[in-house]
Amino acid sequence: AEPAGDERCGPRAAAIPGPAHWCKEFPNANGERQSPIDINTRSAKYDPSLKSLSISYDPSTARSIVNNGHSFNVEFDDSADKSVLRGGAVDGTYRLIQFHIHWGSCEGQGSEHTVDGVKYDAELHLVHWNTRYGTFSEALKHPDGLTVLGIFLKVGNAKPEMQKVVDALDAIRTKGKRAAFTDYDPTGLLPASLDFWTYPGSLTTPPLFECVIWHVLREPIYISPEQISKLRGLCFSSENEPVCHMVDNWRPCQPLKRRGVRASFQ
Ligand SMILES: [Zn+2]
Repeated sequence: AEPAGDERCGPRAAAIPGPAHWCKEFPNANGERQSPIDINTRSAKYDPSLKSLSISYDPSTARSIVNNGHSFNVEFDDSADKSVLRGGAVDGTYRLIQFHIHWGSCEGQGSEHTVDGVKYDAELHLVHWNTRYGTFSEALKHPDGLTVLGIFLKVGNAKPEMQKVVDALDAIRTKGKRAAFTDYDPTGLLPASLDFWTYPGSLTTPPLFECVIWHVLREPIYISPEQISKLRGLCFSSENEPVCHMVDNWRPCQPLKRRGVRASFQ
């Protein structure tokens, strides 16, 4: 099923056209390296030259949580090399700036990437920028400007680290709300194995810039049914607009075109 955000929420349809309409305003939408994609596990090629991912997050860099009308962002202080990703398919140092989640209106949909055509219930994105470009906004202009670590979520026995994020959502229910969010280590959200698929792609929300080297982890993590219903209780709408619940904030898969997907594992 396609995201039904437009159909479900009348007020939103006027204000924020959904993924099917992005190409009018954002020509990148039909570009050569758009995300997300379906990962075909048989076509993904094992690349022994890929390094292991090296991830080091410092809890003191967590700053705030904000409802931006698409998802919620947990924001980090990226003024120094304190929370960083190195290795994998990228060279140099990438700093963590924010993470967010995409989810569905029901189980069986919600992830952006799919694996052999199968959707997960949600997908966590940890966004990092390449320090060789000096700032996040400059990094957006380069094909290796960002790396996003994508982690699939399944409804099940949650990791305890998810609860602090969910507890913070009460304070940012509507668009534009922001709250402090400190002393948090997102390492607790990672699965045991950092085996990944990698490919060159884009942001999955406007402006859809083609600046992302994706690392999508093979092993999912878990979110409890109670936690995912808290996500679905957030709003696309702001405080003084009719309530429109934030669900199906995922973009459907885009054509692979000339790209290949590499795997860090056999
Ligand atoms: Zn995302």
